[in-house]
Amino acid sequence: MDYVARVSEPEVPTSPSPVRRSLTRIAELGPLARSPEDWAKVLGPLGGRPFHGKQLFRWIHARSVLDPALMLDLPVSLRQTLSALGLAHTLTIAEERRSSDSTRKLLVKMHDGSTVETVLIPRLPQSKLPSPLDSDDDTDEDESDDETVSAANETVRVTQCISTQVGCAMGCIFCASGVAGLKRHMSADEIVAQVIVGRSRLDKNEELRNVVLMGMGEPLHNYESTVRALKLLTHPDGIALSSRRITVSTSGLVPEIERLGKDFGGNIGLAISLHATDNETRSKLMPINRKYPLEVLMSALRAYPLPKRRRITIEYTLVAGRNDSQGEAKKLVKLLRGLPVKVNLIPMNPIEASTLGPTDWSGVFAFQKILTDAGYSCFIRRQRGDDVAAACGQLALSGAKAKVRVDRS
Ligand code: SAH
Ligand code: SF4
Repeated sequence: MDYVARVSEPEVPTSPSPVRRSLTRIAELGPLARSPEDWAKVLGPLGGRPFHGKQLFRWIHARSVLDPALMLDLPVSLRQTLSALGLAHTLTIAEERRSSDSTRKLLVKMHDGSTVETVLIPRLPQSKLPSPLDSDDDTDEDESDDETVSAANETVRVTQCISTQVGCAMGCIFCASGVAGLKRHMSADEIVAQVIVGRSRLDKNEELRNVVLMGMGEPLHNYESTVRALKLLTHPDGIALSSRRITVSTSGLVPEIERLGKDFGGNIGLAISLHATDNETRSKLMPINRKYPLEVLMSALRAYPLPKRRRITIEYTLVAGRNDSQGEAKKLVKLLRGLPVKVNLIPMNPIEASTLGPTDWSGVFAFQKILTDAGYSCFIRRQRGDDVAAACGQLALSGAKAKVRVDRS
């Protein structure tokens, strides 16, 4: 089923060269990665006025309408020209799996046949959470008014986890994407398309509230496309997600963490995959640590321009026998001292390519207790959608393997 249509590339005039260069760049971006200003430039040679750029952008991003014929506030001639340019496809949903907890995993296929996954995770009512597991909500501040709205309208808030690369070059040994290696970067167009497709799959009572860049790939390794996508997702004329409701998760690419801090003034949520408290252990689990060792990473985190009342999320995947001792929990307490953080513990999700496995529950709770006793907010991330292999690190490269029962009720 096709959900996202691509308006084919605008014709590029042969002169003058600066205009041509600009149009070539915009054409290369793909339709979902164009800002209102980009669209205005595209539409100009097609007979459009500058404000039509904003109108077209609003149709695509705010209303998810991708058929030019339906864009009623555009002049008929422009609609016809856009339709006549022809439609191709940015991505299609190759498969959708619904887990027993309503988590949905979408396998999306791109123009070259590569597939990535994006996951819709509805927030469970607090009452259904088995204590002491957390709410799995990746935005932490000031949720009180939302609770009131949710209760009154019975709106279910959904977090969408999106991918930024096909595979990943970082090679973390506990992660399916890392084991597979990098196939290619995703374009901003493809990154944004996941959200537009995701919104089309929401149930009536659901609302997209948070987007986390925790799917396949290392977002900061694909910096330009990721940042362009973030700017479009937060654009006030488009989907208009609040930047504090977007979280970029990174294995620790220090120069790009610094850039992200500058580019968004610290307003985009930052999650760091730490997973170890000493360089030797971390380098074994995450080869990127050899390039940016812990001390360099920690000073980048201290320098991150966090707004008041915001915290950095520290992700710590507990891998049995590797990083999960109580001694390591104590070292983590010391390492994080003075940093505004919350800690998410993720018992490792088993992957086919590795014999590494999760810490047992008593070990997880003991680890958590050491952190909470030291005053940290420390949560255990529930495994949402693990019956459809949609949990962290399990996203597959080429189609979901039918080794699990899918509950479609
Ligand atoms: N590349 C980014 C974001 C994608 S991975 C990053 O590494 O942060 C999102 C999170 O899932 C990271 O914290 C990652 O370490 C974790 N993860 C990867 N594989 C996992 C697995 N098998 N079990 C549990 N967590 C895993
Ligand atoms: Fe890449 Fe993140 Fe997986 Fe590491 S954990 S291999 S950085 S996706």
